[in-house]
Amino acid sequence: MYYKQYGSTDMKVSAIGLGTMRYDEEDIKADRLEKCAEIPLYAFEKGINYWDTAPFYCEDKSEIVTGIALSQVKRSEVYVTSKTNLGTIDAGDHPKKEDFRKRLEMSLDRLKTDYIDFYHMWCMLSLKSWEKHMDALYGFFEDAKREGLIRNIVFSSHMQGDEIETVVETGKFRGMLIGYNALNYRFRQIGIEAAYQNGMGVVVMNPLGGGMIPENPDAFSYLTEGTDLTVPQAALRFVASHKEITVTLAGCTKKEHVDDAVKAVENLEEKPTSEIVKKYEGKGVALNNLCTGCSYCKVCPKQIPIAKYMDAYNQMILTGDKGAILDRIENHWGITKDKAKDCIGCGRCERHCTQHLPIIKRLKEIAE
Ligand code: SF4
Ligand code: SF4
Repeated sequence: MYYKQYGSTDMKVSAIGLGTMRYDEEDIKADRLEKCAEIPLYAFEKGINYWDTAPFYCEDKSEIVTGIALSQVKRSEVYVTSKTNLGTIDAGDHPKKEDFRKRLEMSLDRLKTDYIDFYHMWCMLSLKSWEKHMDALYGFFEDAKREGLIRNIVFSSHMQGDEIETVVETGKFRGMLIGYNALNYRFRQIGIEAAYQNGMGVVVMNPLGGGMIPENPDAFSYLTEGTDLTVPQAALRFVASHKEITVTLAGCTKKEHVDDAVKAVENLEEKPTSEIVKKYEGKGVALNNLCTGCSYCKVCPKQIPIAKYMDAYNQMILTGDKGAILDRIENHWGITKDKAKDCIGCGRCERHCTQHLPIIKRLKEIAE
C-alpha cells in the first residue's frame, strides 16, 4: 500500500481509504453484520488504515459493521471517521450540547471506540448552510475535541472550488472530504489546491462518478493509456495520483473490490493537480455537468424522479445522441417522460443539487 501524510500532521494514511456505504445489501438486510465486517478486516490486511463511515449508510448499519471490525484490530492502527450535521441531530437549527452529544455518543457506541479520528461537519451544500452549521455546531465540535472524543475536526462538502476555498481559509478544519473524479475535476480543483496549501488533508469520495465512469468505459478509456489497469482502477489512480489529495475512498462490497483498489495505487506517482489537469485537457468527457446520482435532489414536492431523468440526460451528453435520453428513461428505468411535465419550477432540487445542474431546464427539454 502507498501511504501519504495527512496535511501538515504526522499521520500516515493509506492512499486508498475504505468507503463503508457499500456493504453487501443482502447481508445488511439479513443482519449478517459479522460477514460484512470481513470487508474492513480484509482491507486492513491489505494496508488500508483509513475507514470512512457515517450514520444512515447501509440502512444505518454501516457504523455498527465498522465497529465490529474496529474492535478486532489494534485501535491505534486505524483512522476511523464519522459525521454529523443539523439534519442528523434532528433538534432544529439550534440544538443543545446534549443533542450533539447524543448523536456523537451513538456513533462512538456503534464503533465500539472511545474516540473518532476524523469527525465531519457533514455535507455542506452551500456557504449559507456551512455558516449555519458553524453557528450551531462548531463550538460543540471543539468541546468534543478538548475532551478527547474526537481527534480532528473536518468537513465534507459538495460546494464548488471557490466556495471550498472560502471555508478552507478560515483555518477551522484539519481536513475535508469532497467529491472529485475524472468527470468533475475542473469544478473543484481550486478548493483542493487551497486545502493543500493550508496544510489540510484532502479525502475524496465518489472517485468513480457515481458509477458513471465504469458504466461508460469507452468514454474513459483514455485514463488507462500506458497502464495495465481497468477503467475503474485507472479512475481511482487518476484521483490518488494528485499530490494534493491524501486519501481516495473506494466503496467495497466484495474482497475483490479491495484488491482492485489496492492495485490501482501500486507504484503510485504523485503529481501536482495543475499538471494532471493539463495532461487531460481536452481528453474524454471531463465535464462538470453530469449528474452523479447522489440523490440529494430528492426533495421534490411533485415526487419527480429527478435523478433518473438526469441520469438519462447524462446519456445524451456522453453519447451525443438525443434519442439516448428516451431510451434510457424507458428501457433502463422503466418509466415514461410524462412525469417530467409536473415540474412547477420551485427550484428546491437545484438548491440541493451537488453538481449545481440546471434541473428545471433539463426536465423541460425531456418533457418536450
Ligand atoms: S423545480 Fe421541479 S423538479 Fe425541482 S423540486 Fe421543484 S417541482 Fe421538483
Ligand atoms: S441531479 Fe444533482 S443532486 Fe440529483 S442526483 Fe444528480 S447530481 Fe445528485
